[in-house]
Amino acid sequence: MRLRNVPGSRDVIAESPFTVKNETEYQGKWNSLFGNDNPIHIEVGMGKGQFLMTLAAAHPEVNYVGIEKYSSVLIRAIEKQEEAELPNVLFIRMEAEHIAEVFGKEEVSRIYLNFSDPWPKDRHAKRRLTSRQFLERYAKILKREGHIIFKTDNRELFDFSLEEAEAAPGWKLLNHTFDLHHSEFAKDNVMTEYEQRFVEKGNAICRMEIAQEA
Ligand code: SAM
Repeated sequence: MRLRNVPGSRDVIAESPFTVKNETEYQGKWNSLFGNDNPIHIEVGMGKGQFLMTLAAAHPEVNYVGIEKYSSVLIRAIEKQEEAELPNVLFIRMEAEHIAEVFGKEEVSRIYLNFSDPWPKDRHAKRRLTSRQFLERYAKILKREGHIIFKTDNRELFDFSLEEAEAAPGWKLLNHTFDLHHSEFAKDNVMTEYEQRFVEKGNAICRMEIAQEA
């Protein structure tokens, strides 16, 4: 992804009421930040926030937390939230590797991974957000009945992710499609920024849903 440094973005993030600072202090206490007991859904690698903001506007009964590592990207999601001021949206600027230090055991009801970076070199496989190393982290924070929903146009990354879900202990594949937009999941699909771009180019979008074994 091409990244442009946005001057002052770190200051905006530090001052924004929509970003959570010292995020590890809220482990197990995220509902106190939202002031209700609604389920928490997170998007890891949220980018500019279109998907998360669309879902949050449609589902006020769910609390959404967007995680993004780059300030210059996160700032675009903050701008959307400054306009919309949705009470059920918060953001964290962080590296997702530390996710199990930020949320408590079974604190999260759903995890969205959309168009995650492919990290094509084998030696970087553990950096992929669907690697078994990340699945192990997600298992610590996801409710037993919670799902992970992953979308990508990258077939190699998708095949790898199917294999990881199979190989990682304690996970099962619930459903998958290699062509989301011509599948039963198309009607409820909310497009992400990257998805819009790839669909316009004619790329097929893959989608899978996994959960922990009972
Ligand atoms: N999900 C958005 C979408 O579908 O339009 C953005 C997709 S973009 C290809 C991937 C995003 O994930 C980037 O903004 C990147 O900075 C973020 N990201 C990748 N790895 C991450 C990590 N380990 N922790 C936090 N954010 C990450």
